[in-house]
Amino acid sequence: MPIHEKTLIRPENLRTHDKLVVDGVDVSGHWSTFIESRVVRDYNEALQDEIAALPGGEHIHRCWQCGSCTNSCTVNAINPDFNPRYWIYLIRMGMESELLRDKDIIWQCVSCNKCTYACPRDVFPEGVMKATAHWLELKGHTPKSKSTIFDQVFTEQVVATGKIEEGRVIRDFFARTGQPLLQDWLVEMAKRVARRLPFKQGIAFALAALFRPRTRGWAKARAAIAEYVQEQEAHRRKALGLAARAEHEVGDGA
Ligand code: SF4
Ligand code: SF4
Repeated sequence: MPIHEKTLIRPENLRTHDKLVVDGVDVSGHWSTFIESRVVRDYNEALQDEIAALPGGEHIHRCWQCGSCTNSCTVNAINPDFNPRYWIYLIRMGMESELLRDKDIIWQCVSCNKCTYACPRDVFPEGVMKATAHWLELKGHTPKSKSTIFDQVFTEQVVATGKIEEGRVIRDFFARTGQPLLQDWLVEMAKRVARRLPFKQGIAFALAALFRPRTRGWAKARAAIAEYVQEQEAHRRKALGLAARAEHEVGDGA
């Protein structure tokens, strides 16, 4: 279904009269159908800047709406409602309430990056999808996705130790998302890996699971990364108006 049909003519905008006679002609029911005009009053003029302030959204202003991203999109082929070109249009126009209508599917981007290669303007649509999903979470429109939680667990471990220990990442991720550790697929995978793993490697894995491996002399790097992350978070909160809101709430509480 073309995008404009889906988005501009909505069931809630259709008006009919059960009983209507005009000039002696009975036009009751669907004969009297007319489409109520859609009026957008709540533009968010800062929306493009807000998305551009998040990682991946920086080049959204380059989009010229050619539609190559949507045409090449893996998810769009399965779900026509998943439409990066359309969402980029809404963001650039500041049509926040329209964007929010699709808030529950924007996270479905599988990061295949087909759109990135198809885009003639280097908009990096995959990044825009990630930035938009992140924006929805930061603004409280959607809960944190499992993908975001996984990224957090992964990043926290790298920052803390300078290393990644996959078993610990999986354990922490399952714990934070309320999932049982002993899932059938994971047990089966562990069995198969154990069968093929060289003995020495198996011992190394077991030790890494017991004693958290760390990069030597990592403290300075950790402090520098933590400072950078704090700076970036403050910048994003300011760009999204979240810093002001937090201060306001604190002020109200006092
Ligand atoms: S990266 Fe996301 S938006 Fe881009 S083609 Fe893949 S699923 Fe679609
Ligand atoms: S392919 Fe690039 S320029 Fe074309 S609509 Fe998508 S983001 Fe915009």
